[in-house]
Amino acid sequence: MSGSVLTEPLLFYLRQPMSEELSHEQLVAFADQFGTPLYVYHAERIKEQYNKLLTSFAGADVRFFYAAKALTNINILRYIKNTGCNIDCSSINEAKLAVVAGFEPENILYTSNNIAFEEIEEAQRMGIHINIDSISNLRKFGLKFGHNYPVGIRLRPNIMAGGNLKISTGHADSKFGVPLEDIEEVLQVVKETGLFIRTLHIHTGSEIQDVEVFAKGIEVLFDVVKYFPELEVIDLGGGFKVPYKPGDEGTDIELLGKKVKEEFEWFEKKYNRHLQVWFEPGKYIVSEAGYFISKVNVLKPAGEAIFAGVDTGLNHLIRPMFYGAYHEIENITNPTGEKKLYNVVGNICETDTFAEDRLLPEVREGDYLVFRNAGAYCFEMSSHYNSRFKPAEIMVKENNAYLIRKRDELKDLLSGQAEINS
Ligand SMILES: *Cc1c(COP(=O)(O)O)cnc(C)c1O
Repeated sequence: MSGSVLTEPLLFYLRQPMSEELSHEQLVAFADQFGTPLYVYHAERIKEQYNKLLTSFAGADVRFFYAAKALTNINILRYIKNTGCNIDCSSINEAKLAVVAGFEPENILYTSNNIAFEEIEEAQRMGIHINIDSISNLRKFGLKFGHNYPVGIRLRPNIMAGGNLKISTGHADSKFGVPLEDIEEVLQVVKETGLFIRTLHIHTGSEIQDVEVFAKGIEVLFDVVKYFPELEVIDLGGGFKVPYKPGDEGTDIELLGKKVKEEFEWFEKKYNRHLQVWFEPGKYIVSEAGYFISKVNVLKPAGEAIFAGVDTGLNHLIRPMFYGAYHEIENITNPTGEKKLYNVVGNICETDTFAEDRLLPEVREGDYLVFRNAGAYCFEMSSHYNSRFKPAEIMVKENNAYLIRKRDELKDLLSGQAEINS
């Protein structure tokens, strides 16, 4: 046998873009060491996602701003900053956390909705990029700062997009942004106050699989660019879909990169105007890097299925109950067990069902069940409901596990409460 036959498959393997995954053995070891419930974030997986964006958009004038609200642990923010990514914030506190994490104001974007003007003024004092989402705040901003501080306008493009209505933001009944049909009024405000409109922004929703939706957004914005002679940036928001279920397909990022490059080159040729493109991916950057490990407390009959009652609930991972999100579940302590139907349910005093009629390798009391895609909007939406502790969080980097948030203790439930003589 010639040597090349042996080395070829290895070379092929090395050339494949590697998808970084943590093994069952590693996850079991983390659960044993740090206890459950436990959030685990795989740093290299985050970097892999960011690099995929860079590769797919190579040659385009594009900047990516990580939508921090997906996951704000300060170590995650710092790690993302170190990859070179910028940051998009949805509250003034996220912007302040971004500063703590070391982001420069030039690399921080604040895209809010329905906030008080005082918060916008605070963002202005921080020197960060701001997208304003109402005519009323746009007018106040113009009256106060005139042409001195460039801003963006968040438009509502009246496009229906996204995984479901709760995470759709760009349709005609949505509370987000300035309706496109009010553009005359916007122009009036700009004219009266001398506002410097640098950016037009849209964010149509989350889990947008179809690249055409982004193309539609670009089309809508290109149509109104002519009204804004000082425009430098088109911000297309976030919403890239990642696979959650087996067989799911995410947004085709390579195709999107190609399309965006084509569209903006076409625009530049036709109108002799160069525009930079911004994106604000949240889920895409951190979703797949996250694992949430729980332990099975009890089994009970559930008709055809079996209830697997775990040591967590909607207080720690609310996405399935809040908007019907699907999370893949793996039994990492009995992966080869005989498959049976389970209803995986939480320990909270509401019906908190993570999964119904899910086929899992036989679940035994004490088994560890892992929820996949637990990086985005999971810990971040957790609460102290039922006076339970929030889970610990760890970051796995270069094969080392670091505790990045310790599990709560009783004093954490009392912290911030003022005790009076009641
Ligand atoms: C939530 C949000 C994002 C990120 O959405 P993903 O679906 O996580 O990519 C981006 N921009 C704005 C304005 C948002 O509110």
